Amino acid sequence: MTANQVLIEKLTFRMLLRIVLGFLCGVRALATENNTAQQRPPPLLLVSFDGFRADYLRRFDMPNLNHLYSQGVLVEQLTNVFVTKTFPNHYSLVTGLFAESHGILASNMYDPISKKHFRTSNDTDPMWWSQAEPLWLTALDSGYKTAAVMWPGSDVTIRNRTATHFFPYDSKVTFEQRLKNVTEWILGNKKEPGVMFAALYWEEPDGSGHRFGPDNTTAMQKALKEVDDNIGLLMSELKRTGLLGHVNVLITSDHGMAQCSEERLIRLNDCLHPDNYTLVDLTPVAALIPQKDADVIFGILSKCHKHMTAYVKNAIPDRLHYRNNERVQPIILVADEGWTIIQQGNKLPRLGDHGYDNSLPSMHPFLAATGPSFRQGYRTSSLQSVDIYPLMCHLLSVPPRPNNGTLYQARCLLADETCWDVPLVVGLVVGVLLVLSTLTVLIRLLSYRRSSGPRAFQRLQIDDDDDDDPLLE
Ligand SMILES: [Zn+2]
Repeated sequence: MTANQVLIEKLTFRMLLRIVLGFLCGVRALATENNTAQQRPPPLLLVSFDGFRADYLRRFDMPNLNHLYSQGVLVEQLTNVFVTKTFPNHYSLVTGLFAESHGILASNMYDPISKKHFRTSNDTDPMWWSQAEPLWLTALDSGYKTAAVMWPGSDVTIRNRTATHFFPYDSKVTFEQRLKNVTEWILGNKKEPGVMFAALYWEEPDGSGHRFGPDNTTAMQKALKEVDDNIGLLMSELKRTGLLGHVNVLITSDHGMAQCSEERLIRLNDCLHPDNYTLVDLTPVAALIPQKDADVIFGILSKCHKHMTAYVKNAIPDRLHYRNNERVQPIILVADEGWTIIQQGNKLPRLGDHGYDNSLPSMHPFLAATGPSFRQGYRTSSLQSVDIYPLMCHLLSVPPRPNNGTLYQARCLLADETCWDVPLVVGLVVGVLLVLSTLTVLIRLLSYRRSSGPRAFQRLQIDDDDDDDPLLE
């Protein structure tokens, strides 16, 4: 091959590579340009319907919710955080942290440093919440007003601050009343600008799930009809106030629900006398402080029931992110899906429960979103619930606090973001490399064929240069 042919081949390869890279960078640059062009972001409303198990979406007719995500996005399942309880997961949604990092580890806790006890009915001591900072506080630092309505932790003074507007928890306040306050706060008035971030909490379908069990189709149909009516109310209220299409709305939940049964009870007293331990939390994840020989107590509990797994604190699996906090007790017991841990007797406390391993689909909630920043009619199978926090910070242009989430996957939900489908990109790169290789081979072949014609003539011309050719020796 002549020097010219080699040069042409190199130039062709570089040109094609530049075209591919140019295409990739161009799309990215376009996305960045779109982002910076946006001045003040739309307000963000985060709504949680407690205990909304992901598969309710398939099992029950929910026309209003269906309409909402058909014009926006749907994440069919969220992988939430362990333990799959209300308080830990609601705090994860607004901090992007696993329970071990934000410190709200369960519905009942004991802090060995302060020697204090936490109950969901007695939760307003700031020390429990101050290991993290929820978005309704972080957004204040960006000059925004915020609101949090009955969201766990919203009526607590965390790190000496609260949201601009909040309510103490009161289950008697209807969804409509909570909603009306939120829309008024978002709208603002002459004296005060509207809030940029609002979090709104509603207790259903969790209450019905506990009372009737998720397998009770009739009862759950009724509960979900009410939830769907509330979503309808939300959309008509946004329309009435002129906010529809100008607000980003996230609808999500904290956890799912599993069916429990009197046939699936685990009695701790059958294995160990209660004098041996102090019980901090009971089911489906029990937290115990051994009062006697810890190794002996753990040995007994680990063999207690085939549907219950015992862990000493430092052996809790990494994937649960439930070890590195002083509020995790020395021994935890995790019941299998649908099993209930009790101390004694035959009474099943609830027909439905949650708190189980967060890898179980029955524990997963969902995410639906709509608004000017979201794609329309986009659907994806899963997302980590800790990824919602960086997504919300991005939507509000609020610098996020350190967190366990990432925007990488969540950006696929956004209208003006480039979303790289990794297998597609790998396929594209492999395809381009194959085309380049094929072109290189073709160019070589063509060069060879072109040069093989006049070769005899050339050889006659350049005999002197071929001294080292063995054929000529
Ligand atoms: Zn619950």
